[in-house]
Amino acid sequence: MLPSDFHREEFIARLRVEHARILPPSVEFAVDDGWLLLIADRLHDAETILSKHGWIDRAVIKQIKEKFGELRIYIRPRVEDEAYPDELAAEMEGLRRVVSDNSAVTCEICGDDGEIGNFGGYYQALCPRHSYQRRAWIARGRKGDIFHD
Ligand SMILES: [Zn+2]
Repeated sequence: MLPSDFHREEFIARLRVEHARILPPSVEFAVDDGWLLLIADRLHDAETILSKHGWIDRAVIKQIKEKFGELRIYIRPRVEDEAYPDELAAEMEGLRRVVSDNSAVTCEICGDDGEIGNFGGYYQALCPRHSYQRRAWIARGRKGDIFHD
């Protein structure tokens, strides 16, 4: 659960400062608040891995988004056509898997334990409470706020 005083914009602003080396200002955080702590951890991991291989200034985040109910953080070589060396590529693939696996069991709204559900053809990782709210929203014709207490 996110702390009650959690402030999305402040949190993202801090991530942008801490990870400015790999996170361009143009990259949006196109996901809900429940995944922001996961993103913070994984940006830290990405910098550790890239630094270890001498690639910290040669890689850049392209996108942070949701796909098929999971979190995706796309990190690519800055120079187009350049590829990660094999060992680095393997570690980045491992990181990608951790991002996917963790997000699939983390509610995108609140960060509680959850699972991916199919909500009228839209896939989202939600805790039981937010899953219930999303289904209720669909049942009433998708009117009003989806998530509310
Ligand atoms: Zn939730």
